[in-house]
Amino acid sequence: MSDTVSFGYSQVTPDEKTARVGGVFTSVASSYDLMNDAMSGGMHRLWKDRFVRRVQPRGTDRILDMAGGTGDIAFRLAKSGASVTVADINPAMLEVGVERAAKRGVEGLVWAEANAESLDFADRSFEAYTIAFGIRNVTDIPAALREARRVLARGGRFFCLEFSTTQWPGFSDVYDAYSHRVVPRLGKLLAGDAESYRYLIESIRRFPDMGSFERMIAEAGFVRTRVEPLLGGLVAIHSGWRI
Ligand code: SAM
Repeated sequence: MSDTVSFGYSQVTPDEKTARVGGVFTSVASSYDLMNDAMSGGMHRLWKDRFVRRVQPRGTDRILDMAGGTGDIAFRLAKSGASVTVADINPAMLEVGVERAAKRGVEGLVWAEANAESLDFADRSFEAYTIAFGIRNVTDIPAALREARRVLARGGRFFCLEFSTTQWPGFSDVYDAYSHRVVPRLGKLLAGDAESYRYLIESIRRFPDMGSFERMIAEAGFVRTRVEPLLGGLVAIHSGWRI
């Protein structure tokens, strides 16, 4: 990894990025779900539904939902009867997730504090690995992809849902103006925190485009990689197989 990495539009040391991302999610944890609805007009729910349909979880699967945060993906996966482990580096996000699971009566999830770059899970422990809106926050993305491959069983599948760059002309300008002007204000109004939401928007801009990220997945050793753009690539589902 190089000496500095991007934290939104700034360049910082890798350790500083990890610490600052930690600060962002500790700060937003309690308002995270409300803000997701407010920022996306509820659309994040549809993207997550579609993502989980792509995973096609089966009752016999062991699934690792990495950067699982407050559990949105895990709750959907668990409906299949799969054994789901929710892992996240941030205890505040996991705490909100555990409370939400209890309120919804979702039982049987395993919650684990873990850094995607270096996992304690044994080799080949899971049939699927999911990461939704998480990978762009990880400091060393190639390391996280290598770990994803390591913990997947042969024939296991990797799925990533992440913001990307829309290729619809016109729409990208509107979205750009909305995200840079409106989202930090919404963050201030609803979560009392404009700065964290500014980072979240900037980090979307700094994330590699769809083709480049697909190549990174292939470089980590995944095969039959695919990318499915949603809204022209505003959001994308990347996938690959471990053989
Ligand atoms: N997956 C959830 C969802 O879709 O609602 C949460 C997404 S939230 C935008 C990003 C999550 O990534 C946060 O919970 C954050 O703590 C987690 N995260 C950031 N860096 C991480 C890392 N290195 N390892 C594991 N989780 C990480």
